[in-house]
Amino acid sequence: MSKGRFGVHGGQYITETLMNAIIELEEAYNHYKNDTQFQKELSELFQNYTGRPSRLYYAEHLTKKLGGAKIYLKREDLNHTGSHKINNVLGQTLLAKKMGKTRIIAETGAGQHGVATATAAALMGMECEVFMGKEDTERQALNVYKMRLLGAKVHPVTSGTATLKDAVSETMREWANRIDDTYYVLGSVMGPHPFPTIVRDFQSVISKEIKQQMLEKENRLPDVVLACVGGGSNAMGAFYHFIEDTSVKLIGCEAAGKGVHTAETAATIATGRLGIFHGMKSYFCQDNYGQIAPVYSISAGLDYPGIGPEHAWLYDTGRAEYVPITDEEAVEAFEYLSCVEGIIPALESAHAVAHAMKIAPNMDKNKIIVINLSGRGDKDCVSVAKYRGENINE
Ligand SMILES: *Cc1c(COP(=O)(O)O)cnc(C)c1O
Repeated sequence: MSKGRFGVHGGQYITETLMNAIIELEEAYNHYKNDTQFQKELSELFQNYTGRPSRLYYAEHLTKKLGGAKIYLKREDLNHTGSHKINNVLGQTLLAKKMGKTRIIAETGAGQHGVATATAAALMGMECEVFMGKEDTERQALNVYKMRLLGAKVHPVTSGTATLKDAVSETMREWANRIDDTYYVLGSVMGPHPFPTIVRDFQSVISKEIKQQMLEKENRLPDVVLACVGGGSNAMGAFYHFIEDTSVKLIGCEAAGKGVHTAETAATIATGRLGIFHGMKSYFCQDNYGQIAPVYSISAGLDYPGIGPEHAWLYDTGRAEYVPITDEEAVEAFEYLSCVEGIIPALESAHAVAHAMKIAPNMDKNKIIVINLSGRGDKDCVSVAKYRGENINE
């Protein structure tokens, strides 16, 4: 495959002004990814700050209740800051520091990536500015507060629909304006090359650990690996080291919102078409004119109108499968895992739990499913209560 391409997907569809920043990033990453000192520092951060390796937990009660395949949970929810996002953010902030940058910028949707970035900036003594759709700053006031508490500056973005896709565009513009001292910490396996590769590499620690832990516990590979897909970073991380192991089925769970036959959905593979946006070629939810469509999911972390190019390629080649999961199914899984295992999953991760609930009962007891539990669900309790018609104080 040519550089930065995954089949026809990926590439670098960017303005001339961004090209210098991208070339500098690519050269730096190519150097540091093979630098033993860099890898040593990152693995120390993972261990001492994040709390890696994250547990691979045998969900015995869930397994028995569903009555089929044996289910393990990869506990990314136990990471510092509560999700897988910190893996990528620590990697990129360390890279920024090595490149001599003093200021990091990031986009954020619900605020999870913004909070993780502000955290890494506080830890490593960098200046941090986060771009967030104005709409989102109002819906996610608590995360705005956390970012400020951590020392970051939050810029509300008012262009377009004032949501995540506009925040990404605005952060790219800001980067192009000031590349000398600034590094753009992109939050998922998307955007122009080399971002999809960089983010995947930093998240791939997840599948590296799953493989090791599974061999220790079961002395074999799992049969299925499940993960939710927004842009696709936790899923790429959970899939990556299994891509060559063709006996392992890889399944990405997209947010169907109110259903793939409604306009209120974010299921890119189920409803999207090939297009170019945010510097990459991939699948995107589009209207009849090819404009990026507004997307919806109850889970704020999954309502991105595209999917990372490597996923688009895994889909094209049939190596991975992508299934839509509705709000209702995700909420049921959120409640089910909470009472059956005493683990409140993020609503995003609940999409993957929901698919396990569908397939596990029909699988043999000697089969094994691993669910990547991308984050914890404390942040989602208010919206689930509201969905169920309960009014609780925030
Ligand atoms: C942001 C987020 C996601 C979605 O992002 P991906 O890049 O698709 O992983 C999933 N789960 C949690 C907990 C998140 O915070």
